[in-house]
Amino acid sequence: MPAVQNYDVVVIGAGGAGFAAAVEAKSKGANVVLIEKMPTVGGNSLISGAEMNVPNSWVQNKLNIKDDTPARMAADTLKGGDFKGDPEIVGVMTVNALPTAEWLRDTVGVNFEKDNVFQFGGHSRKRALIPEGHTGTEVITKFSALADKMGIPVITNMKAEELVKDKDGRVVAVKAVSGDKEYTFNAKGGVVLATGGFGANAQMVKKYNPNIDERFKTTDAPGTTGEALYMAEKAGGQLVNMGYIQTYPICDPISGVIELIADARFDGAILVNQEGKRFVEELERRDVISNAILKQPGAYCYVLWNDNIGKISNTVKIHDTEYQAFTKQGIMHTSDTLKGAADFFHIPYANLKATVDRVNQMAKDGGKDLDFHNRGGLKDMSTGKYYIIKAVPSTHHTMGGLKINTKAEVLDKNGKPIPGLFAAGEVTGTTHGTNRLGGNAYTDIMVFGRIAGDGAAAEAKAR
Ligand SMILES: Cc1cc2nc3c(=O)[nH]c(=O)nc-3n(C[C@H](O)[C@H](O)[C@H](O)COP(=O)(O)OP(=O)(O)OC[C@H]3O[C@@H](n4cnc5c(N)ncnc54)[C@H](O)[C@@H]3O)c2cc1C
Repeated sequence: MPAVQNYDVVVIGAGGAGFAAAVEAKSKGANVVLIEKMPTVGGNSLISGAEMNVPNSWVQNKLNIKDDTPARMAADTLKGGDFKGDPEIVGVMTVNALPTAEWLRDTVGVNFEKDNVFQFGGHSRKRALIPEGHTGTEVITKFSALADKMGIPVITNMKAEELVKDKDGRVVAVKAVSGDKEYTFNAKGGVVLATGGFGANAQMVKKYNPNIDERFKTTDAPGTTGEALYMAEKAGGQLVNMGYIQTYPICDPISGVIELIADARFDGAILVNQEGKRFVEELERRDVISNAILKQPGAYCYVLWNDNIGKISNTVKIHDTEYQAFTKQGIMHTSDTLKGAADFFHIPYANLKATVDRVNQMAKDGGKDLDFHNRGGLKDMSTGKYYIIKAVPSTHHTMGGLKINTKAEVLDKNGKPIPGLFAAGEVTGTTHGTNRLGGNAYTDIMVFGRIAGDGAAAEAKAR
């Protein structure tokens, strides 16, 4: 491979934002390269649940959810982040959610479930599209195939280390290393930073938020280490909201990974503590649930559901690998009876029975949760099988990062765009405020990935 290469657009980071930017730029006629530091593509976007919030989607229509709007989703998003997200950025994200999802479906070829949408915590409507298989594998596989078909070189094991500026302060190239060799990728139109967050960099997490210390494992892909943020800062980029770091409440106590199987929570599974008692609304914001779990005995909780709930979300079947692994690890148990579920984890049966009896009574009375106001409503749990899994919070999402404007241009410390530098995805810090709502990252990375790719391609044409 030549040590110096010339492109219109150089995209750094082959996750969802990077692929969206590269494909968009290429479709606008730009000569694009996508570089990735890890041996394989995908980043967090690959291991993600990849559920994506889209108001007014075709699935909502089918399910007769007719009253959702971008404005409603924007209001939920801003409130969910304690109004620290940028309303203009959130507005662009929500207005473009539907056309972007249609693009993923029709151009990229992503298959979404046709009859179900999730309602993540903090959302006032069920609005998260679910990719087939409930993970980002569906999305990244389709993006990889499309990039290949479009002739976009995707170079793995290639780590960007420096952004090069010309005498006018424009970012014109990226210096990268692969093994012991150095490469320069010249970018006529622009560089798109799509390098993700820093949730897998425990030192950096603790530096910006000392409350999240050695006790926490991470849900994130190993490449989520954030050094590109310093690279961008060196080139003049402004970092914002770096202390806003989200823990995901429902994770494997041994490895730290998300328990996707416990997504049954979005369809009625309840959270109980070691005493067999509920302690928080199951559809609350992630930070609220995480903090509530940390206050329980042992700083963990259990997620409990039955076949009645499982037949809606089907997570045991869909996440069979997890099911086998967690069961083998001894952190998950299946039982025909509630007593079997309680006994396995030494939860006082009388307490658990009282909790479930009360849930059943409220379910019978129409589902209204008089105790914790579960906004999805409570479901009947009077019959087995029962599924129970132990869970702890784990470092998940870094809301802070580069400040961008609605054109995905990176802003400097004076709020001025740095010519030739764009950013999209978890590397940016402007969208989510103090707390990202579930399903909003995928909307964010796809919408702004495309905007960044489009902007960089337009600059290449203009120059
Ligand atoms: C387990 C899990 C489940 C999730 N579920 C959901 C969900 O259902 N819905 C939702 O909306 N969000 C979800 N999220 C969050 C969401 O998936 C991420 O925020 C999002 O995928 C980030 O996308 P990205 O493209 O910005 O970064 P990533 O997908 O992480 O990609 C960044 C890439 O850049 C590479 N890179 C970094 N530095 C460099 C460098 N210097 N040079 C070259 N390459 C570099 C990385 O290796 C990585 O491949 C989940 C996250 C996790 C971890």
